[in-house]
Amino acid sequence: NTMERVGLAQLGSQLKIGDQARRRRYVILGAGVVGLSTALELKRRLSAAGEAAEAVVVAKHFPGDRSARDYCSPWAGANWFSVATDSGDQERWDAETYRRFARLADGVPEAGVRRMDIRAFFDRPREDAGVVSPATGRIWYDELVGGLRPIPPGEVPDGAEFGFVAGSFVINTQAYLAWLNTEALKAGIEMRRASIDDIRILFKDIEADAYFNCTGLGSYHLKGVEDKSLYPTKGQVMLVETPKTPLKTMYFRSPRRVDSDTTYVFPRNPSGGVILGGCRFDNEWSDTINPELAEDIKRRCCALAPELGKPEDLKVIYHAVGLRPSRKGGPRVERELIDGTPVIHNYGAGGAGYQSSWGTAQHAVDLALQR
Ligand code: FAD
Repeated sequence: NTMERVGLAQLGSQLKIGDQARRRRYVILGAGVVGLSTALELKRRLSAAGEAAEAVVVAKHFPGDRSARDYCSPWAGANWFSVATDSGDQERWDAETYRRFARLADGVPEAGVRRMDIRAFFDRPREDAGVVSPATGRIWYDELVGGLRPIPPGEVPDGAEFGFVAGSFVINTQAYLAWLNTEALKAGIEMRRASIDDIRILFKDIEADAYFNCTGLGSYHLKGVEDKSLYPTKGQVMLVETPKTPLKTMYFRSPRRVDSDTTYVFPRNPSGGVILGGCRFDNEWSDTINPELAEDIKRRCCALAPELGKPEDLKVIYHAVGLRPSRKGGPRVERELIDGTPVIHNYGAGGAGYQSSWGTAQHAVDLALQR
């Protein structure tokens, strides 16, 4: 009868492997901060709904690996200091991540996220410093961070226009990526190492109900996606030894919030040393370390953070370059059918992949689970 035929048709859609019904399965392509956060958020939401679906993370690089060109996440500073001014999705993603970081900082010390203020100075006037959301004329995160505290003009360095202190978080990326990886394994998420040339081949290799594309800059070349609005923004940093007196605050100075000429000091101390940066060079694909720039970064950071002492006294542990996955028009968090297969894109985070990670993960999972 008709009822039976409908029932069999529904059952038939689950009979993918031989004649054994299989559980729903999701594949997450990419194991940077975006891919791992997305995988964990997906598992969390599925368990909350009582659904025992499988999740498989497929990637060329996993936490512990290093690649300046293909794996941005290990090279970030990293902190939460929003660049969003869209009065929309980007601000919401960052706000969600801020709240999650607060829970990690207060309750999960092994995640490597710590509360720390940031002292930020801007060389352009407030209206032109890229911190104000045009739609509201306000700095959107003022209340979220517990109130921005203006720095008195007498304490603002020569050449800077204004400054404020904000309550924020510093992330020891080595510890955090390892923690995300461990949490994923504990949640039963499967990991497979593979370099995928064409996302449509992945559909054949691992059958799944939906695929998350969290490949960062990789989506520039990944066939089936090849997003040419992606471009690299090269960053150069160094890790230095923790000074005798560990720093109690992060420092930032730049003409505008997002600028090629940007200086920052992110203490991951006491265990993690201090990250000194930086620069933002758009459309630079090269991963070479520029030694003159490194000297300039030392000089700028010591001028900003007196605790560091003199440039010649800094003990450098390593220099590094990373390519941020920037994208014209901003990050892509979007559902698309590729050859009829649902793909949820979550890539193109630029210089904000940590601070927007839980927000974009939540958004991407919403897009996957809405039926
Ligand atoms: P990635 O970390 O690059 O991961 C991409 C993943 O996809 C990898 O696992 C890779 O192997 C995999 N992959 C790609 N293509 C393929 C393929 N074809 N087949 C298989 N696997 C593939 N952000 C902040 O929020 N705060 C900061 O303070 C901050 N500071 C930064 C400082 C510097 C110097 C730099 C360079 C970046 C900084 N960022 C910061 C930005 C942040 O690091 C990135 O936004 C983030 O790491 C992007 O993560 P992702 O997971 O999208 O990409």
